[in-house]
Amino acid sequence: MPQFRVAKFERSSTFRRHNLVRRIETFGRELFAMGRCSQCQESNSVCFMLDGHSKCSSCTKKGVKYCDGTFSDEEFDSLTAQRDRLTEAARQKGTELAQLLAAVSKVHAERERLQQDADSLLLKQKQMLVREAEALDALDHVDPPEKASSTVFVGLDDKQLEEMFELEPGALLGFEGPIPIDRPS
Ligand SMILES: [Zn+2]
Ligand SMILES: [Zn+2]
Repeated sequence: MPQFRVAKFERSSTFRRHNLVRRIETFGRELFAMGRCSQCQESNSVCFMLDGHSKCSSCTKKGVKYCDGTFSDEEFDSLTAQRDRLTEAARQKGTELAQLLAAVSKVHAERERLQQDADSLLLKQKQMLVREAEALDALDHVDPPEKASSTVFVGLDDKQLEEMFELEPGALLGFEGPIPIDRPS
């Protein structure tokens, strides 16, 4: 009997659930994007909430047990307090970071200055070598006892020179010996 079947269907929980969902969607307000309950966000479903009803339309339709689409004032306020704490903690980290960056930049500047001082001392030592070599050459020209050597340090390799002047290993790399700077031609 068709009539009996229709009556039975109307009373069934499936029908009532379907009806409820339709009414929640009609009378409720739709939540969007991140405002939707977790279930609807995950499944990308429409999410309608009706005041006084604890589940959204989709959770009602799927028979999901717990829908977090509704919330109490306490829950909301506790989230606000939590958010304020996080914001404050982030702000403090920002201050900390700015202090660290300032310290880093100060140490960086100090390192540059120290290296520049060391470099100018090395330059000074090289110039001393050049002057000494030129002085010896001049002496040799006055009274050449033998073939003039261009420098007293000829015969010493870089390693020996480095030790003599307590230079960092490799400091003389690229330094081609006492090349005169302002030698008159
Ligand atoms: Zn939902
Ligand atoms: Zn839900």
